[in-house]
Amino acid sequence: MGNKDNSRLTRRRFIKTAVAAGAISSSTFTSRPDAATNAGKNAAASDAATDNNALPFSIRKLLNQANLPKAAGARVVIVGGGWSGLTMAKYLKLHNPAFDVVLIDKRPEFISFPASNSWLADQINLDFLTHSYIDAAKNHNYLFLNTTVLGFDREAKKVFTNNGYIQYDYMVLAPGIEYDYSRIGIDDPVAQMQLYNDYPGGFVNSSELITIKRKLHTFKGGTFILNVPNGRYRCTAAPYERACMAAAIFRKRKVKAKILLLDMNAEIKIKKQGFEKAFAELYGDYINYMPSAEISGVDLDEKTVSTDFDDYRFDDAIIYPPVRASSLLEDAGIANMKTAQKVADTDPYKYHVIGDEHVYVTGDSRSQPFSKGGHTANSEAQYVAEVIAAHALGKEVRWRSPQTMCFSAVDIDPLEAMSIITFYRFNEQKKEFEFDRTHMMEDWNTEGGQASLAWAEGMYRDMFYK
Ligand SMILES: Cc1cc2nc3c(=O)[nH]c(=O)nc-3n(C[C@H](O)[C@H](O)[C@H](O)COP(=O)(O)OP(=O)(O)OC[C@H]3O[C@@H](n4cnc5c(N)ncnc54)[C@H](O)[C@@H]3O)c2cc1C
Repeated sequence: MGNKDNSRLTRRRFIKTAVAAGAISSSTFTSRPDAATNAGKNAAASDAATDNNALPFSIRKLLNQANLPKAAGARVVIVGGGWSGLTMAKYLKLHNPAFDVVLIDKRPEFISFPASNSWLADQINLDFLTHSYIDAAKNHNYLFLNTTVLGFDREAKKVFTNNGYIQYDYMVLAPGIEYDYSRIGIDDPVAQMQLYNDYPGGFVNSSELITIKRKLHTFKGGTFILNVPNGRYRCTAAPYERACMAAAIFRKRKVKAKILLLDMNAEIKIKKQGFEKAFAELYGDYINYMPSAEISGVDLDEKTVSTDFDDYRFDDAIIYPPVRASSLLEDAGIANMKTAQKVADTDPYKYHVIGDEHVYVTGDSRSQPFSKGGHTANSEAQYVAEVIAAHALGKEVRWRSPQTMCFSAVDIDPLEAMSIITFYRFNEQKKEFEFDRTHMMEDWNTEGGQASLAWAEGMYRDMFYK
């Protein structure tokens, strides 16, 4: 990865931008010099709780116990109400109704990323993607707490939140991913924030999707850059799918636009034949696909993306940097900072942190190399819920592979899509997980389009409704 001069990114008006961006969570970014020491600080915070009268009320409040009903059984606290956490909460109650399950998310409502590319192209309404945490908790008999997790004291088994701390017997960390802008040569937090504001990637926060939709529907013409990150990024097919949807929108709007799809990988990573065919047959006039385009810097003044080979000027862009596990794993003192994605050292089959069978890591924050997908997170959480329920009884369950199922919209009006279904197995020779029983359906059609929406509806039903 190149290490371009970051000053290229800093415009004088950055301070204004940073202030204006105050509403954006700092945890969206990876540059957290304080994070490595937070685990220690959090442990100290717990001790300080006994001697905190000198602290301002707002801080003292954080050190008090959160106002929740008294735990009726062993309490399982789930950090993150995405695809993994929502599924986990439901299936923990199914496998052990005596568990007292608390699901925490900082978002007041759930907006789905899967199927969102179809929403960008007006094939579904926002209602289709939006669901209530209250419905999920009520229908599946657990507590939902809309708050932000701030830190942990794993020795005292406490999760600290904006609402005070919560004592746990088991904790599941399912906080998803963050962007790692340093892997495209952008280390300065101010520059990262500015790039995020101007050209959000659309893979972490639903506000990014709203900005992207506005961009695609108001673009006046010229070069629009999209990219595919390298490493294990979230939803392997989605950046290629998004290029198709962007091209379909420009075609429908009759905008003279060229999409430059800069792939930081040597070739299309999944559904290769299908996407190649779509780029050539449907969007030959719109999409210019560039493999091995390793991004090493972005110049916001010049509106240029630099790769190891060339510089590309753009009129507008969606920049999707490589990703890493949520920095909450650092805050919990379990992130292995030597790993590319700063994941925790966990048991690959049972998901608990090595040396702590009361803390589990699931979903896109996991250390296993399974596809970062909603379906993967859902099927995995069903299994891990069973693992935790068994552990509480001193029992074990046999490992079963998560399943990945991923639809990709290719054309619109009517929606047409292709898909892949796969499991995983451990290759003893190579000592790594690999695809198993894979079914690729790369001939996109309207049945695929309908199936993609039926799949999403089924998943929402599982996580939110009875
Ligand atoms: C555009 C797009 C298209 C996609 N398409 C598909 C698809 O077709 N099929 C598919 O299977 N997958 C798809 N995915 C991938 C899928 O969305 C993710 O794999 C899935 O969301 C991962 O689930 P998760 O629970 O691990 O993380 P998330 O769903 O991201 O959930 C993490 C949750 O943790 C919460 N959180 C984080 N930090 C804190 C904190 N400090 N305090 C409180 N809460 C916190 C967040 O608010 C969030 O709700 C797509 C993703 C994108 C972006």
